[in-house]
Amino acid sequence: MPVRVESQESQVSQEAGPSRKTVPVRASSIVVDSEDDDDMEEEEGWTTDTFQNQVIDKDIPSAAPQLRQTIDKLKDFIRRLEEGMELALDTAKALEDSKQDEPSIREVEKAFFRILDQRELVRIKIGVLEDMVNQLRSSHQYTDIESTYEELAAPKEKAYLAKSERAKYKTSKEYSEFRSAIWEINHDSACPPVSQWLEKGDDDESDDDDFDIGGATQSYRCPITLMPFVEATTSSKCGHNYSRAAIVDLIETSRKAKRAPKCPVTGCQAVLDKTDLKPNPSLQKRCDEYQKRLQRREDERDEEDDTIAIDEDEED
Ligand SMILES: [Zn+2]
Repeated sequence: MPVRVESQESQVSQEAGPSRKTVPVRASSIVVDSEDDDDMEEEEGWTTDTFQNQVIDKDIPSAAPQLRQTIDKLKDFIRRLEEGMELALDTAKALEDSKQDEPSIREVEKAFFRILDQRELVRIKIGVLEDMVNQLRSSHQYTDIESTYEELAAPKEKAYLAKSERAKYKTSKEYSEFRSAIWEINHDSACPPVSQWLEKGDDDESDDDDFDIGGATQSYRCPITLMPFVEATTSSKCGHNYSRAAIVDLIETSRKAKRAPKCPVTGCQAVLDKTDLKPNPSLQKRCDEYQKRLQRREDERDEEDDTIAIDEDEED
């Protein structure tokens, strides 16, 4: 008999607003039921059958691998949600590029929030399932997996959904990136703290003291070559970015000279190894877009100048 563990699906859809996307997740039979009215949320390859009839055996310890399998599927779902986030960001950037503060950016932002919410709820489920797997592995016996899961997950999900927009997204790295990527399209200044776009809720009265992400301008130049990134690469030790060839060369040269290869960013003390270098395609993409935008605007300015020059010639 399958063990069914219900999620907080009704709350998710209420919270999610008019164009909602419901992702009920059951430990036994995970059903992804998407009312897909958002272009930015891809469901490619996902059908209700994908996760149906995933029966969790109550026989301990065989339940552990089955829970593990469920966790893996949820993780795969997170990756898909993150693709949706990318698409939402691309859409918002295109809108801002067409017109500064284009009002429909707000709509895209709402979709972005819904995806962030879904991802957080899936992460909560994963956390609970992982705890249960660990318990099972240390020979803990559950008399009822279903109700245990529910007891553990439900309060966490509820607590998350009860939060205000500002409490939920103010410290979100992804939301900060979303806002600063839009901001840089029409501003040369640093992106202001994201809370300015988030309605204040009852639960963030201590707002002034809180950590607020924003204000950072993304640099698209390699600190070594001082040129736009080529194969943008990030150090997993310190988070700094470089062009791939430049940082590899720096590490190799330092090693040959028997010096510790230190991160070239001023003030950074990280000692780097080639294994710390991770390709950063999304940064490269933003860098390329930025360069293209600069080029296009320069061309537009040149055209304007030409027009003015012609006008002046005609007046002569
Ligand atoms: Zn560094």
